[in-house]
Amino acid sequence: MCRNERRFCRCGRNSASLQFRDNILFPEILLSLFCPQCQDMTIWDETAMLRDCGWILEYDIPGAQALLNQRGVKGTATPEFLFDEGYLTWQGLAPGDLEVNAELHRQLAPLIEQDLARYLQALKSEWVKHAAELKATGWRKAQAT
Ligand SMILES: [Zn+2]
Repeated sequence: MCRNERRFCRCGRNSASLQFRDNILFPEILLSLFCPQCQDMTIWDETAMLRDCGWILEYDIPGAQALLNQRGVKGTATPEFLFDEGYLTWQGLAPGDLEVNAELHRQLAPLIEQDLARYLQALKSEWVKHAAELKATGWRKAQAT
């Protein structure tokens, strides 16, 4: 089970859906979230922050390390480790992916009655297209797809 949570950035204009792999970390471990419009409100610190297409996630690294140790997860808590291993990262590939996915389902819903196979195929191909766009834009999680 992975917990999901929506978090607003510092300026409050944008939000991101977050995923917590195995519920080891919790929302407070993300000290701050900055969107492209408020990333200037912080001072870059590579030991605690990760940058992804203009967004910045700031982690409580000592807190994260303690929780990982407690649950027997081997690894050094770094922003890259927490993000790439899914312990505290975007839900989906980018901050707005939950909405993109919901919108896709909504748009294609009429197909369900007509042709279920086509619906599933369309869902899949639209999502692949979306992931390719994110990859081209440079989103970190999309690079791994
Ligand atoms: Zn912001």
